[in-house]
Amino acid sequence: MKQLLTDYNIEELNQLFADQPKFRAKQIFKWLHSYTDFADMSDIPQSFREELAQNYTAIPIKIVKMLSSKKDNTKKFLYQLYDGNIVEGVLMEYKYGSTICISTQIGCRMGCAFCASGIGGLVRNLSAGEILGQVLAVNSYMGGTVTNRKVTNIVLMGSGEPLDNYLNVTKFLSLVSDPDGINISQRNISLSTCGLAQNIIKLADEGYKIILTISLHSAIDEVRKRLMPISNKYKVEDIVNAAKYYFNKTGRRVIYEYAMINGENMDNDAIEALARITRGYSCHVNLIMLNYVKEKGLNPCTREQAKSFENELIKRNVSVTIRRSMGSDIEGACGQLRRKFME
Ligand code: SF4
Repeated sequence: MKQLLTDYNIEELNQLFADQPKFRAKQIFKWLHSYTDFADMSDIPQSFREELAQNYTAIPIKIVKMLSSKKDNTKKFLYQLYDGNIVEGVLMEYKYGSTICISTQIGCRMGCAFCASGIGGLVRNLSAGEILGQVLAVNSYMGGTVTNRKVTNIVLMGSGEPLDNYLNVTKFLSLVSDPDGINISQRNISLSTCGLAQNIIKLADEGYKIILTISLHSAIDEVRKRLMPISNKYKVEDIVNAAKYYFNKTGRRVIYEYAMINGENMDNDAIEALARITRGYSCHVNLIMLNYVKEKGLNPCTREQAKSFENELIKRNVSVTIRRSMGSDIEGACGQLRRKFME
């Protein structure tokens, strides 16, 4: 298999092309971030382009299918990787820009009860260049280049647990925010984790400035254990301490995601526990209307139940909103589309 060049930062490209003029690495880095294959890198000498094409790959991922929602401005993409594996992504277009939701692993080993991504377990980690490839492919699909960006925001919320693929994900964060590349500010990137507390602390210590989103779904250990097996390793208290640490280090408000599941996590104890753990630091709760996942048999709640749950939290001074569930007609919940395609 040829080496994937989008895995490399400028320093590494410099080392790789040590016999080339000093500016070569930056030139190639720019082309790679414009999703351009070697043959079209017009300011690179022809002979060197041919040499590159023999030894490396420039295009990390290809779009094999795109579905457009009829209800809202959501597009769902399926990408194919070099080994034939499929990953998926969603693009949401707003007035102020476009947000892409990307995957960090093929499958996932966290086994959350409400999620289709984890059903088949973890297949493999995506490399930094493959994670980046999703952004580059869609940016190019939208007519964007490295200087004329069409994708403005990123959420790491597709299949996979980003902090379970820590090294590749953090390298991706550095690559995608590099001023010589596609240069999407870390302030516009949001990472969603099921709560790997130790790596949340590491992320803060290493100086990343992204928005941290924690899939909480219950602030009560016993309930959370039923929904998310990771709770056997990290208690709610560990996660909340890590979230506070992240806020103190980065100054960035932490977001908690809470999928409302009828009969599971919406009673009075759930409300009190959520109010308790969100006190005393800057955080916000996003309530999510669950997408029904047919294999899992968990029930969504009604609009009225959601509204009443939100009101109870507001009464307890919790900063909270109900998030619109987008793209439900094109299988919006993570992992669902990939399964259908694979079937
Ligand atoms: S919700 Fe996220 S962490 Fe949990 S199984 Fe799905 S992809 Fe993995």
